[in-house]
Amino acid sequence: MTSLMNTYGQRTLTLTRGAGTRVWDDAGNEYLDAISGIAVCGLGHAHPAVSKAISEQAATLMHVSNLYNIPQQQALADTLVELSGMSQVFFSNSGAEANEAALKIARKYGNDKGIDRPITLVMENSFHGRTLATLSATGNPKVQAGFAPLVDGFVHIPYNDVDAVRRALNEFSNVVAIFLEPVQGEGGIQVPDSQYLNQLRDICDKHELLLMLDEIQTGIGRTGKFFAYQHNGIIPDVLTTAKGLGNGMPIGACLVQGAAVNVLQAGNHGSTFGGNPLSCSAAIAVLNELQAGDYLQRASNLGKQLVDGFSQRLKTCKKVRDIRGMGLLVGIELDRECSEIVALARSKGLLINVTAGNIVRLLPPLVLSDAEAEELIDIISVLIENL
Ligand SMILES: *Cc1c(COP(=O)(O)O)cnc(C)c1O
Repeated sequence: MTSLMNTYGQRTLTLTRGAGTRVWDDAGNEYLDAISGIAVCGLGHAHPAVSKAISEQAATLMHVSNLYNIPQQQALADTLVELSGMSQVFFSNSGAEANEAALKIARKYGNDKGIDRPITLVMENSFHGRTLATLSATGNPKVQAGFAPLVDGFVHIPYNDVDAVRRALNEFSNVVAIFLEPVQGEGGIQVPDSQYLNQLRDICDKHELLLMLDEIQTGIGRTGKFFAYQHNGIIPDVLTTAKGLGNGMPIGACLVQGAAVNVLQAGNHGSTFGGNPLSCSAAIAVLNELQAGDYLQRASNLGKQLVDGFSQRLKTCKKVRDIRGMGLLVGIELDRECSEIVALARSKGLLINVTAGNIVRLLPPLVLSDAEAEELIDIISVLIENL
């Protein structure tokens, strides 16, 4: 028996070192990392600017709690506000916690308006985290199984279906918010119609609902913009982000603007670790680096190169149902279960992931080279053809 809870199943690979797009295992084998710690290490492993910021801050002051001013927190909030068009930020330590803040804002917003038992509309096939509220919002029975009673106040509707929103609004008079991912990540890289978010924005404006976007996976440059909603020219009322923000340092953020500003007041929410000097210093270095380079354009170009390359290579492969993505969030949907491809890729020196059972998911770092993108296309196409 092992001393770790078995929450992650059996793990067979031990990685001991990383640099850029590459990681090495304890036997010295090298891998091209096309998962990036699940969309976390967007700047690649051990990025020098991030490592320097962390080590300098660690040697100066790591934690003081939110009883005191934290200049790094203020500076990071200023930059996030500027990059997102949002107004204010609350810092957490993870994605699920950022979403908890968002879900509390929706309830408080509803309760402040005198709405009895406020409802947040959430999507089928979504993923929002593993805490009780976020797994209750998640639209995946596997994530929820065994955890009844769930947190109530959520109504699940089909994704990418504006009429489903209208029907829910007709059925329930106490809806206060719509909460969704701009692209469903864990759900299998589901990219909605190009006007979907715009239509939801209009509905939210008309009905005074909060539009709340979970950009924990899609944010921080991965889709080719800092945030995916920026492809639509809209702005949400509540925005959550996390994964790529610290490039591996745990940090999450919940941002508000418009009607969501000042919903949370002193004493309504908090965190011991959230927004500590160490994690904020890492995130500042990440955002500075992203702004200094052409990473977003690269994410966009590389995503196109991957989708076009796979489409070309696999166009006669009957097993492939769809190839889609947005920036460096790429999915190849097969007509069958394909989890064995993860081990096959690993034996070829490549780390990839399968989500929703039959979708090969690629989340390479934004520092991927064109040649490495071709390497990915070559190796994975052959593996899929031979499945
Ligand atoms: C990963 C993820 C979460 C949960 O983030 P944690 O840091 O694991 O709590 C929530 N929403 C989305 C869209 C995610 O991809």
